[in-house]
Amino acid sequence: MLHCRLDCCKVSYMSMRTVSLKLLATPDQSVALSALASVFADACSAIVQHAVEHRCWNRVALHHLAYYPVRERLPSLGSQMVCQAVHRVADAYKTLKANKGIAKDKPVPAINFNPTSVNFDKRTYSIKGDVLSLFTLDGRAKVPFVCGRYQRNLLSSGIPKEARLIIRKGIWYFNLVLNIPDAAPSSGSGSMGVDVGENNLSASSTGKVWGGGQLRHSRDEYLAHRRRLQANGSRAAKRKLRTISGRERRHVKHVNHEVSRSIVAEAVNSGAGEVRMEDLTNIRANIKAGKRVRTRLHRWAFRQLQDFVAYKARGAGLAVTFVDPAYTSKTCSVCGTIGARVKHLFSCATCGTRLHSDVNGARNIAGFAKPIGIARGCKVTSPKFAHQVLPVAVESPVL
Ligand SMILES: [Zn+2]
Repeated sequence: MLHCRLDCCKVSYMSMRTVSLKLLATPDQSVALSALASVFADACSAIVQHAVEHRCWNRVALHHLAYYPVRERLPSLGSQMVCQAVHRVADAYKTLKANKGIAKDKPVPAINFNPTSVNFDKRTYSIKGDVLSLFTLDGRAKVPFVCGRYQRNLLSSGIPKEARLIIRKGIWYFNLVLNIPDAAPSSGSGSMGVDVGENNLSASSTGKVWGGGQLRHSRDEYLAHRRRLQANGSRAAKRKLRTISGRERRHVKHVNHEVSRSIVAEAVNSGAGEVRMEDLTNIRANIKAGKRVRTRLHRWAFRQLQDFVAYKARGAGLAVTFVDPAYTSKTCSVCGTIGARVKHLFSCATCGTRLHSDVNGARNIAGFAKPIGIARGCKVTSPKFAHQVLPVAVESPVL
């Protein structure tokens, strides 16, 4: 993913997005796709042998080693598909290496490939209207597909790149990567800070708070359920554990999508040209909370919310900047001195400010990085923070 979390990168982005097309394959077409997936997996397994033997996962080198032997062994697969299989195996080994799955002094493990997915590229598929034309072992198959309105918009605006055909619960899907050019830069000026929090999912420097109540409640339920299953320890319990953790992940993802959409809408409506968020790389160390709280919202959930905000903001033409989170929750966003934070309330003894603590944090996030312009409608009250913070438009809740 083209993704830079550094301050310096305010270049324009081509973001990569994946759309999932559900294929309406006839029984015959489904058989043909299964046959292709089976031979593709055979090709991958054959290429794995070369990778293991030569400790090689560089795509070009692996291609030189494996291409002709595999073409000879599986002539029906065709030249492009063999290239795709090499590509797939090389990527799988690179991922394994990145995850420290390959030790220097031990043999390279053989990766197993199931006949459930096939890589495609521009030479092995094409799209015309609602019909996908796919390479199969006996000629092209023209398979109609369906997708949602949102995905269709992406499909019409993006440039199709590589893709993967997969089967899930008996249904074929075509997961297609698109290059999406970013929207024209927004005419907004000023920055909106976004704090992703512990008590609340998120708060903006414009004063809006997105509560975490619903998510926290359901996560507590999942947690209790998980504990019971872990204590049980049987195979059936382990299987059930996998099912509910997948369900939980999908639920969090759904909430994160909704909240991030609302956050970006808030930024656009307040006339921001930029969204600022904390760089949460070290958040684990920063959360000083009991185990009960820490297990509620994992780091990946925060990170996912930030990632969703980032790509949606860029899609709306907003700049996205990550800032150092140091002192963002302790500093008074009005006078810049250190204040006291008690649960949802931030209070400053120096200037008497009382603010929702997450909103105070978000206002500091909006203020920490270098200014990009005077915020629209922002009254200059403090030279230190004058440049950045969009005015609080919404009455803070809680107070
Ligand atoms: Zn103050």
